[in-house]
Amino acid sequence: MTATTTKTAPFPHLLAPLDLGFTTLKNRVLMGSMHTGLEDGRKHFPAMATYFAERARGGVALMVTGGFAPNIAGWTKPFAGMLASSGAARRHKQVTDAVHAEGGKIALQILHTGRYGYHPLCVAPSRIQSPISPFTPFELSAGGIERQIRAFIRCAKLARDAGYDGVEIMGSEGYFINQFLVTHTNQRTDEWGGSYANRMRLAIEIVRRTREAVGQDFIIIYRLSIIDLIPGGSSWEEVVQLAKAVEAAGATLINSGIGWHEARVPTIATSVPRGAFTWVTKKLRTELRAAGVNIPVITSNRINMPEVAEQVLADGSADMVSMARPFLADPEFVHKAAQGRSNEINTCIACNQACLDHAFQAKLASCLVNPRAVRETELIISVTPAKKRFAVIGAGPAGLAAATTLAGRGHSVDLYDSADKIGGQFNLAKRIPGKEEFEETLRYFGQHLTKTGVRLHLNTRVSAAELLAQKFDEIILATGVTPRNPRITGQEHPGVLSYIDVLLGNKTVGQRVALIGAGGIGFDVAEFLVTPAGHSTALDLPAWLAEWGVADPGEVRGGVVRAAPEPAARQVTLLQRKPGKLGGNLGKTTGWIHRAALKMKNVEMLSGVNYERIGAASDGGAGVSLFITFGEKRSNGTVLELDNIVLCAGQEPLRELVEPLRAAGVKTHLIGGADEATELDAKRAIDQATRVAAVL
Ligand code: FAD
Ligand code: NAP
Ligand code: SF4
Repeated sequence: MTATTTKTAPFPHLLAPLDLGFTTLKNRVLMGSMHTGLEDGRKHFPAMATYFAERARGGVALMVTGGFAPNIAGWTKPFAGMLASSGAARRHKQVTDAVHAEGGKIALQILHTGRYGYHPLCVAPSRIQSPISPFTPFELSAGGIERQIRAFIRCAKLARDAGYDGVEIMGSEGYFINQFLVTHTNQRTDEWGGSYANRMRLAIEIVRRTREAVGQDFIIIYRLSIIDLIPGGSSWEEVVQLAKAVEAAGATLINSGIGWHEARVPTIATSVPRGAFTWVTKKLRTELRAAGVNIPVITSNRINMPEVAEQVLADGSADMVSMARPFLADPEFVHKAAQGRSNEINTCIACNQACLDHAFQAKLASCLVNPRAVRETELIISVTPAKKRFAVIGAGPAGLAAATTLAGRGHSVDLYDSADKIGGQFNLAKRIPGKEEFEETLRYFGQHLTKTGVRLHLNTRVSAAELLAQKFDEIILATGVTPRNPRITGQEHPGVLSYIDVLLGNKTVGQRVALIGAGGIGFDVAEFLVTPAGHSTALDLPAWLAEWGVADPGEVRGGVVRAAPEPAARQVTLLQRKPGKLGGNLGKTTGWIHRAALKMKNVEMLSGVNYERIGAASDGGAGVSLFITFGEKRSNGTVLELDNIVLCAGQEPLRELVEPLRAAGVKTHLIGGADEATELDAKRAIDQATRVAAVL
């Protein structure tokens, strides 16, 4: 993956202007809409203005806000962001003014959720509950539909009054307009249902009447679902027909929407190959051009580096590229690309941990690799007037973030790691099939260490005495974690392995394997063991499409067929002591993907397990046996006959240096796993490190 991050790529397609007739976009980069939570409270508007201004300054041509509902029925959740009054429009002025002051352009997304609304007032073409909301929508009367259309138009006019350069009409992802398009959710028999001409009437009416209301010199982006990824989704003929009709109705740009929210196909997770859906945009663009329809088409999903974006534009897949999360990770993405510094981009690794997962937990979004995202007014990193000498011990995510933040502020920093490379546990994470992106974070930090002037000492396990001898002003301990010893009788058997040895390839693993512990690492190790060596589908688009049952929407309605994963490389059993579902603590938006992926590989998942003892194989062979019982009553005793057992039983802090340093009176700070191993992840490690280093 790092091969794509060359130093001097000129990106002629990506950086070319796009003439829209009444206005020109300075390059082909759209910052796609993301719900950050800032939309949902008046008090957040100053922070929203700063957030967008920073990204406008970074060179992106056009940004789209998170979704704003045009009325109460269209709320995402009760009291969600809405633009339905001139008072609300006045508040938006601070956002548009801040963006324009930086030379940027911004469009407001009009999002009506329809039956996806998480509130009792939601409405839809038909009274059919969605699988992802507990609320059954009200079926709209013809008058009710007219009221929704008027709300869209009022919202667009208010957006114009508020100074926006345009609007994006959200017509994809299974939201309100999309719900009219397919019979799966639209079973009406009036002029809004039945034939496709009737089902697409709402989309066309909204675009046509919006254009009439806002005039010709205002951008209208229509987000069109080009592959629904649900059974009974739109046919390809319908997609093309809608695109042509939307253009004729007055849209300026068509943006690609990929998959309904209820689809059981991952569309943006890190295990989705880069640019996995650009071929669908290309298919649409080719058909439109052949029909003489020249509206610019935008592609999206899992495009996270300028090299990928350039390639997609160069091969004629699209006229513009939408990237959303990459601008949380690095507001300066475009400038760095333009200056031939793409290897300095802090790449979005598509983990969803601080952005989408937060949105689903009603928390303000941020970014795992950039904790300043959406915290621009709060987490301020400024040059220090009082330069000090720091030692940072441990170059995992926490140590890297602390060292670069301190050095960036002007402190003198020495960073030590006993390993021969930076990265700590990220060097294990990046070996998991589907987590190859994690290497990008290490590439970024490697560059950033040099840029900020951190002195890096690898292969250096420092002792407290050595540190004291150097008389640092303050010391940051980021020494991470050590695997927890589960103390199971018989665990010294040679068939019992640590996950570290397994992931580093230090030990050979047999065909029948049980994993003790089913946290994030247990799931990842299971993925590693069931995947044939060297065959991550995240790096093989055809194999990934087959694995998740994604088909050409030109051949199959909705673009979904039966999944055809490769057979598992091993027979894996995942065990945990807690009763209930395994993987319950995995990410909100990615846990289901991990569970589904392992299920496809027939991984057995057992919970409520007691590990009674480990012993020799019952047949006297080279294997190992694990005797387990279930529940408090220790019932249903079973012996698992295995080739190997892998311990993934959690972590404990590694902080042997703290006592002697503090005893000697040195100001010593603990961060990351060294501070607290329970529920540790890189999001917390980097966030804590950055915050500590921002104030020292
Ligand atoms: P570490 O990464 O453990 O780094 C500590 C560093 O200190 C090491 O490099 C070590 O060599 C060095 N060190 C220790 N003692 C000394 C010493 N005395 N002298 C010098 N150097 C020393 N997190 C997520 O958020 N998302 C994920 O998807 C994810 N996936 C993961 C997958 C796997 C397989 C693994 C193993 C972890 C994963 N994690 C994930 C967890 C994440 O990697 C950790 O939370 C994070 O690395 C913790 O950072 P840290 O800097 O505190 O510690
Ligand atoms: P973890 O998530 O805390 O899971 C530890 C597992 O070990 C649990 O299944 C736990 O379940 C079991 N366990 C705990 N004590 C045990 C004992 N004494 N004996 C046997 N089993 C025991 O930790 P992890 O899997 O090591 O992951 C470390 C961190 O990295 C996690 O906090 C995680 O967030 C992060 N990570 C995140 C991801 C991600 O995708 N976001 C991926 C990998 C890692 P029982 O106690 O029920 O048995
Ligand atoms: Fe990308 Fe993860 Fe940051 Fe979200 S939290 S923007 S997915 S790196």
